[in-house]
Amino acid sequence: MSSSNSSIAKIRPQHTYVYCRCHLKCVLYTCYRGPNSGRQFYRCIYNRSEDDCNFFKWVDEQEESSYVTHYKLKASDQRIAEKLNLILLTMKVFAVMIFIDITIRVYFG
Ligand SMILES: [Zn+2]
Repeated sequence: MSSSNSSIAKIRPQHTYVYCRCHLKCVLYTCYRGPNSGRQFYRCIYNRSEDDCNFFKWVDEQEESSYVTHYKLKASDQRIAEKLNLILLTMKVFAVMIFIDITIRVYFG
């Protein structure tokens, strides 16, 4: 008779997207091992590849304050992230050049 079922009426935002540091839509994973088994989390789309930005976020943690903070930060982070991406790209190219240089020295030098 009373409102014992009211907790079911809690509406969760189903179509909110979380973006990682690459500014790409995150992939939703479900934890299937350990104490967090069954818990869902967001990960970078490049999960475990060399482009992985190591972004990690629990689904049930993204509500309210942390969710708002994430979006507040996003706007100011955008420009910094763009600069960082450029620096990172330059470093990658530089690293590849050094690698090629070393390879040539080892084989031909
Ligand atoms: Zn990422």
